Order: sequence, then C-alpha cells, then structure tokens
Amino acid sequence: MTGKMCAYDLIKKKRDGMELFRDELAFLITKYLSNEIPDSQMSAFLMAVYFKGMTDNETSALTELMLSSGSRIDFSDISAPKVDKHSTGGVGDKTSIILAPLMAAMNVKVPMLAGRGLGHTGGTIDKLESIPNFRTSLSIEEFRGNVRDIGLSIISPTDEIAPADKRLYGLRDMTASVESIPLIAASIMSKKLSEGAEGLVLDVKVGKGAFMKTIQDARKLARTMVNIGNSSGVKTVAIITDMNQPLGRTIGNGLEIKECISALRGKMADDLKEVVLTLGAWMVYVADCVTEEATISRLPEHVVIKYKAELMDFIEKGDAFKKFAEFVDAQHGDPEVAFKPNLIPSAGKVKQVKVAEKGYIQTMDAEKAGIAAMLLGAGRQRAEDVIDHSAGIVINKKVGDYITPDEPVAIFHYNDESRLKDAEEVFFSGVQLSEIPPDRKAIIIEVIL
Ligand code: URA
Repeated sequence: MTGKMCAYDLIKKKRDGMELFRDELAFLITKYLSNEIPDSQMSAFLMAVYFKGMTDNETSALTELMLSSGSRIDFSDISAPKVDKHSTGGVGDKTSIILAPLMAAMNVKVPMLAGRGLGHTGGTIDKLESIPNFRTSLSIEEFRGNVRDIGLSIISPTDEIAPADKRLYGLRDMTASVESIPLIAASIMSKKLSEGAEGLVLDVKVGKGAFMKTIQDARKLARTMVNIGNSSGVKTVAIITDMNQPLGRTIGNGLEIKECISALRGKMADDLKEVVLTLGAWMVYVADCVTEEATISRLPEHVVIKYKAELMDFIEKGDAFKKFAEFVDAQHGDPEVAFKPNLIPSAGKVKQVKVAEKGYIQTMDAEKAGIAAMLLGAGRQRAEDVIDHSAGIVINKKVGDYITPDEPVAIFHYNDESRLKDAEEVFFSGVQLSEIPPDRKAIIIEVIL
C-alpha cells in the first residue's frame, strides 16, 4: 500500500470485500491497542468482517497479530506431552473439568486458559469459581508450576495473554459481531497458541445451543482452526459434536461441578460420557503423536474404543478423581469439595417444572435452556453482570425419554424469584413432545484433521 495508512480506508476496503494485507491488519491492531484508533472505528471494522469474512491469509495474520500482542508461555523444560482441549461454547458443557484431571492422571499435561460464560453459554472459569476459595487468576509462574507438578492448571487468561483478543472480544460482544467464523477462529486460536501446548483437540459445537447453527459453518470453523493450529506447529484436530440439547444433566456453575465430581467417580450421563471419552481418546492419541513426532491421522474405530477403555480404567481406579482433588487444592480451593460436593453452595429455592401433556421429548432447545438458566441467575447477559453460582437447572428427562405431567422434566434452582416465570416460559418454548420416539442422533458428528 502506498501513502499513509488510515483506519477509514481499511474499514472501507473490508466493507467493499477486499483482502487486507498483513501490515494493514497490524496497523489496525497496534493502533487500536495504543488507543489511536477509537472503539467506533474498530467496531465498524469488525462489523465489516462479520459481513464480508476474511481469507485464510487474513485470518492467520489476525491470529498471529493477536497472539504476538502478548506473550507465549514456554513449557520446553517439561518433557511430558502437553495437550489442551477447547470447546467453541455450549450449554451444560463441563467436559474440560472432567478431561483435564483425567489426562493429568494419564501423564498428559494440560495447560488450559479458559473463558467465562456469556449469554446462553457457560464458561469453565465461572464453573470452577463455584468451588469455595478456588482461584482462577494465577500468575503465569504459578500456572507453569502447577502444570509441571500436578499435570494441569486451568486459569483465566492473564493480561500478558493475547491482550488484543481481550479488547476485541469485549467490543464484539457489545456490537453483535461475535458470530463470525474468522473472528471466532482468531480469538480462540490466539489464546490457545499462547498456552505453550504442543497438541490441541477442539470441540466444535453445532446446533441450536452453539455459535455455529449449521454443519457447513461448523466444518468451516473447524477447518480454519485446525489449519491455523497445524501451521503454527501445534498438532491440532477438531471434533464436531452436537449441541442441540444441553449436555449431561445440569446447567449452571455449582450444579455442573457436582456433576463433574460424579463423572470423575464413574457416573456419567450417556451423552456426556460419549463426548468426554471421544475427546479424551483423541487427546491421548495427539499426545502420542507429539511424543513420537508423528502426523495426526484418522483413527480407526477399534483404536478409539481401545483408548476409551483405557480412559474409563483411569476413572474407575479413582486416579482422575484424586487428580481433581489435587488440582482444587493447588488452585487454593477447598479440596474437601471433591469428597463432599455439598460444600458447594446450593440455591435457596427449587422448583420442579412439568409438561402439560405426555409424550416423548422430541426437542429440548439448548439455547433456550441456557437462557432459562441465565435468567435464574446462572449466567450473564452482559460481561459486567454478577452471577449466582448456585443457580441453574437439573435436567431430569432428555430427548427421546417418555414424560408425563406427573413427573418433572427439570428442576430449577434459584434464589431470585423475579425471573422464574420468564425462565419457565423460555425453557418450555424449547421443549416439544411427540407421540413416537424421535430418531436417535449421533452426538459425535465428524472429525476434521
Ligand atoms: N470463545 C472465544 O474465546 N472467542 C470467541 O470469539 C468465541 C468463543
């Protein structure tokens, strides 16, 4: 580009569907971080990206610029393989809290930077903060120390990690530009590449409760992130999984931690178990690929089954559960919580919610269930909202189950009654019954290498 660069011209260029060069994106990011470009112009640029998309080169450059706006954690002194997983966001998705201790028990180290929930989606950090005294803001040194000594740590990104993403994500959230494939890919991958992991398993959610509503968009997001990861030297694979109904039996922070503790003791809802064991199988395989410096290839089903059996063995022997207690202790939480989950605060009020007719549950819209949980206090509408860690929903019946008006479909947990009616309304607007059982749909949809 000749002449002096200015934000106005770059916004116009993107608005008109043209590709930006790396130095133009670098100009936008660095000048925005130094407050020489105002929020108004950056918002307009993000909206232009939302509508016009980005080429692969632009998305890679944006990821790299956001990554290098901060530091990259160095784990080269730890010889064991370091593999993380990341979900693109869902409802009732608590798999990270089960998988991280499980992997650590199997000597796969997990350095995990996780996020908070927003809108209808939950966040690992909020869930962990329902454990009394648990700290999710550790220094990078403490994070590194925990990964080295106990094999895992889960923290909220510090100010040193991808600060450009922090600023841009806040802006996207206020300006309805979150659901953009290149922006989501760059946001997630800039943080994941900062962690210093050598392998990454991505859980790309698709369906009513996910950012990606169609399989085509989910594939595109998965492919974009896998390419960025692999070209940055991190062995990356994506598994596309269904997010049409909430995952497992609970939505809401404290309730989900209690479900994780049961899971680590071997008791898991079928859908949660399938997602945990599949992602876990791929994490172990990716760890093997890291150790052997091998390329990731498609796993035959019998090999996935073998890995899953190994994972179940580590759960059943109690090793994963023990690791969870160590992890809670290392992050200053009350380790007794693992043995006495009732130490996690419970809501003051519960209400069984029932259907008016009988029939098979055809749909339980995950987005609507997530919004209902948020209205009960479990989530935030805006980033600055305070959440109630004890609020949420226990799901008694799932898609395919038969239900009558005599039994609860779910149990609402709450302290603040003011939005109970709205929560019930939105929850039931997503529940449909039918006279015949719905077709069973696979929860694991596709693997993208
Ligand atoms: N999670 C992120 O970290 N970034 C996004 O843009 C969406 C989900």
